[in-house]
Amino acid sequence: MHIAVVGAGIVGVQTAWQLRRRGHRVVVVSPDVGEGASWAAAGMLAPVSEVQFGQERLYPLMMRAREEYPALIEDLERATTRPHGYRENGMVLLGWDAADRRALDDRAAVQRGHGMEVRELTGRGLRRAEPALNPRLAGGYAAPEDQQVDPRLLIGALTDALGRELDPAAFPEAGPPAEWVRGKVTRIDAEGERWRLTVSAGGDEPPPRGDESSPPGDESTLAGDESSPTGDDSSLTADRVLVAAGLSHGEIAGVTERLPLDLRPVHGDVLRLRLTPGQLLPGEAHLIGATVRATVRGRQVYLVPREDGGLVVGASVREDGLAGVSAGGVQELLDDAVAVLPAVKDMELVEMTARARPGTPDDVPCLGRVPGAEGVVVSTGYSRHGILLAPLGARLAAELLTDHPLGDRDAALLAGMDPARFTSAQAAPSTPSLEGAPA
Ligand SMILES: Cc1cc2nc3c(=O)[nH]c(=O)nc-3n(C[C@H](O)[C@H](O)[C@H](O)COP(=O)(O)OP(=O)(O)OC[C@H]3O[C@@H](n4cnc5c(N)ncnc54)[C@H](O)[C@@H]3O)c2cc1C
Repeated sequence: MHIAVVGAGIVGVQTAWQLRRRGHRVVVVSPDVGEGASWAAAGMLAPVSEVQFGQERLYPLMMRAREEYPALIEDLERATTRPHGYRENGMVLLGWDAADRRALDDRAAVQRGHGMEVRELTGRGLRRAEPALNPRLAGGYAAPEDQQVDPRLLIGALTDALGRELDPAAFPEAGPPAEWVRGKVTRIDAEGERWRLTVSAGGDEPPPRGDESSPPGDESTLAGDESSPTGDDSSLTADRVLVAAGLSHGEIAGVTERLPLDLRPVHGDVLRLRLTPGQLLPGEAHLIGATVRATVRGRQVYLVPREDGGLVVGASVREDGLAGVSAGGVQELLDDAVAVLPAVKDMELVEMTARARPGTPDDVPCLGRVPGAEGVVVSTGYSRHGILLAPLGARLAAELLTDHPLGDRDAALLAGMDPARFTSAQAAPSTPSLEGAPA
């Protein structure tokens, strides 16, 4: 089949890859590659550490999604030599004082109650494992199965794998290299058995990146001018369509009337820091080995150590509508990061970025067919966990788009993500369920 994927965030590109692998011809339409919420994400793959009270429906989705990452990475390594930034370095969950520690103990009871592995860490055990952390920390837990990926590198690797010729021995069923069209889809209409997508030329100006580094898709990836040499709207047709436009779901006519979702922007600030000369002792590669998620006087902060020794520090959770970086958000992140890991003070702050997470009232994504437009599947609302959930969402979306029969377990997971539960007509009250949650 010829399948159009609308939106090139982590959800769109992972789904496009699943579809190409299964033998389909894919066209990706997006104003950018990976510059939405995915551009900011730290990339924690942390179903255990990210447990929030009252979000039981998310736990099985998150656990299942993490299980799917190693196979995705193995697959990708057979397709491209581009780095993906996946690291199995585990996480530690720490409290600053006795009250923070008690909150971790309560959470550990929930984690264990759901069969998740957390091991208690005494202050002494922590100092032995992570000597650079502040010795005043009140200890906590290790979550050895929680991992990380660098979303920018991952999207770059997937984009490369989508565009290149694949080894037929490794991918005997793969479809042709994906096509890319730069622009925003403004409407989707039925045309006989197929779907017509109207694409506005070039899309909007790309959002601010907050740094000088290149986004995963370069100019050669998105063929904007070729699709619309006159600068006017253009169109294309496809047998099936995946709509993975993140927060912009409501801007696509023909879909949003049939499936008016209750999405809201949940902004987050995130910092990227680099080691300065002399910060490491001879033989050391990182200040910290595991990803650290700490509660500091009730506030949440995480520090994600990248392969090159750099750190990602995040993330604020704001519903104030400010699209730019919040000064107060940055101040709190730096204060808490320095409290946990004093050496942060000596690092170089190379980037401050803010983006909006596509939030749903219950933090659970919306994945399913559009009522009255059965060839169109929507996959959005990944809230705080889109990087983690993307392989699962991509596989299930690919199965829906290609009418692949679903096993009982997948059918149950999909039922929990039914977009119809939050169509605006029957929307549940929009509770600020993300308050204080740091992803
Ligand atoms: C600060 C921060 C930290 C985070 N940390 C983590 C983390 O550690 N772990 C984790 O799992 N998740 C994390 N997340 C959440 C994660 O980033 C999101 O859930 C995920 O990126 C959503 O992916 P997406 O592809 O749905 O949306 P996006 O990444 O926003 O992509 C949507 C794409 O669609 C395109 N688009 C929009 N409108 C149209 C249109 N009309 N036509 C065509 N294309 C269109 C956009 O340009 C964009 O490229 C974090 C988010 C933030 C903001």
